[in-house]
Amino acid sequence: MKKSYQDIEQKRSEGDIWFNDLKRKRSQGPTLHSNRYEGCSASTKSVHAGQYDDPTTGALGTPIFQCSTFYLNEASYEAIAEGRGRDEMIYTRYGNPSQWSVQEKLSALENAESTIVFSSGMAAISTAILGMLDKGSHVVSSRDIYGGTYNFLYEDLAKYGMSVSFTSPTNIKDIEANIQEHTKILFFEALTNPLLKVTPIEALVALAKKYNLRVIIDNTFLTPYNVKPLDLGVDLVVNSATKYLNGHSDLIGGTVSGSRKLIDVIWPQMLKNGGAMDPHGCFLLERSLKTFALRMRTHNANAMALATYLENHSHIKKVYYPGLASHDQHELAQQQLGGKYSGMVSFEIKGGDKNAHSLLKLLKLPKEATSLGGVESLISLPYNTSQASLTKEQQNAIGINDGLIRLSVGVEDIEDLISDFNQALHTIFKQQPHYA
Ligand SMILES: *Cc1c(COP(=O)(O)O)cnc(C)c1O
Repeated sequence: MKKSYQDIEQKRSEGDIWFNDLKRKRSQGPTLHSNRYEGCSASTKSVHAGQYDDPTTGALGTPIFQCSTFYLNEASYEAIAEGRGRDEMIYTRYGNPSQWSVQEKLSALENAESTIVFSSGMAAISTAILGMLDKGSHVVSSRDIYGGTYNFLYEDLAKYGMSVSFTSPTNIKDIEANIQEHTKILFFEALTNPLLKVTPIEALVALAKKYNLRVIIDNTFLTPYNVKPLDLGVDLVVNSATKYLNGHSDLIGGTVSGSRKLIDVIWPQMLKNGGAMDPHGCFLLERSLKTFALRMRTHNANAMALATYLENHSHIKKVYYPGLASHDQHELAQQQLGGKYSGMVSFEIKGGDKNAHSLLKLLKLPKEATSLGGVESLISLPYNTSQASLTKEQQNAIGINDGLIRLSVGVEDIEDLISDFNQALHTIFKQQPHYA
């Protein structure tokens, strides 16, 4: 007999079985013959993990499998019959060696059993959320999340008979107060835009355990180099690969990583929503990931140095960076991030938005553009980009003050970045900067 929604709800209220209802058989799955370089550190994994060396040609490095379909054989017919089309090469939306290869590298970096790559961060996020929910489900999230995610939760969940509550990303009591009978997931960003608030992941995981919920963390601003949410007990981690993972501002992509069991729930949702990553995108992402650890080290170091420089500058009012002792949650950041605070810095310039606009025009190295995580420094103002849909009053209420600037610090030489800021600030304020 077909199970009704009520039966499932009944089972759920009895305990932790809701996603165990999945009947699909599992096999070893898409792991190719490469290994994960377990026991190695981030740089080694970045370079080697997941790479598929083609045995036919001896080509070193994963070829681009630019095909949409594959010859059918006994193994693929069997996989289709058993509903595990993810484990055989059948059709590229289901799976492709280019995807498998980069997915293996990402799994190694995230300490995940399994990963799926998507055509964008939003494809990854919307698919992960829908895949985890049913009609009637409720989500607890925060207004301090990416605009696209906020719009998806706010505008689209209701179309599926689901609902969402938005609360603080940092106050566990507020989050707990928003949990309802049908709450299924807690969705938060590990480091928020643009004020770089730190979500207390371990406390969030403990809360989820208490109420039998799943936690999804968007780790785009931090990346697995700085923190591995799965190691802290999170169920699924999502990334916009467009940002640090790819790191060259030349690809749109997304990732979802977690246990094989949960990824097996996300995969059929991906088939329906259709956001698979194309083989050439997989090649670009895998290639970029070879220098991932190398880039992140420099992003982190440059951001720390620039944040310190800005904090000591007499014409900068306030700097938001979790690595600074002045950050509200510096202690939590130290403990959760272990000294790796990302390449994002936000700051308020004296003289408000007028001077902020001048600074963007006068800087030669940071490019005035939205997005983040590229090798080149990118700079923008939240008030007319990421938070533009809010009124001035709403912006002020959430701390988007006059003169707030968001900077994605690139991997240029730090001396060059600082001297560029020096010349730009000097021109604006027409006097030598004073150091506090
Ligand atoms: C950019 C971004 C996204 C969306 O990713 P796309 O690749 O643009 O779809 C989601 N979350 C965060 C935190 C982002 O910065």
